[in-house]
Amino acid sequence: MSKAPTLEEQVEWALEVCRGKGMRRTHALRQILRVLFKLGRPVGWASLAREPELADSCDPSSIFRILVKLEEIGLVRRVGSPERSYYFMLNLPGEHHEHIICRECGKIENVDIDCPVGKLEQKVGRQTGYGQVYHELEFFGICPDCQLPPARPRAKAR
Ligand SMILES: [Zn+2]
Ligand SMILES: [Zn+2]
Repeated sequence: MSKAPTLEEQVEWALEVCRGKGMRRTHALRQILRVLFKLGRPVGWASLAREPELADSCDPSSIFRILVKLEEIGLVRRVGSPERSYYFMLNLPGEHHEHIICRECGKIENVDIDCPVGKLEQKVGRQTGYGQVYHELEFFGICPDCQLPPARPRAKAR
């Protein structure tokens, strides 16, 4: 059995991927990758920039530029709705989560369910001849924090 790679190993792997695509190995790049691996879920640009690993040493606009570059080379992808808020997440081979997004506060979480459309995805690939087919399944709702407190019980009619 192989043991799970450490955070450092994962970051090193990702840095190698970046280097192979011609990206410079900068402090900001390393820190962004580290935070994305650490969080393990999609994250908005602004909250990423507020993470302690990044807040002191990297300015938000360079973080954004790096995210866009990471998206171009396929290591990161964007999820969420463009007109509201979108999130960046690592695009790792063999790793896949569905997401749920709160319509009130815009937070996003992984949903731990077996992907219901894995088979369908393969079928779509076969039928269309497309390679590297993937899908995004997003659920929307109101998160527990944003739900109003339950209404006070009313006096029972007799
Ligand atoms: Zn919410
Ligand atoms: Zn899925």
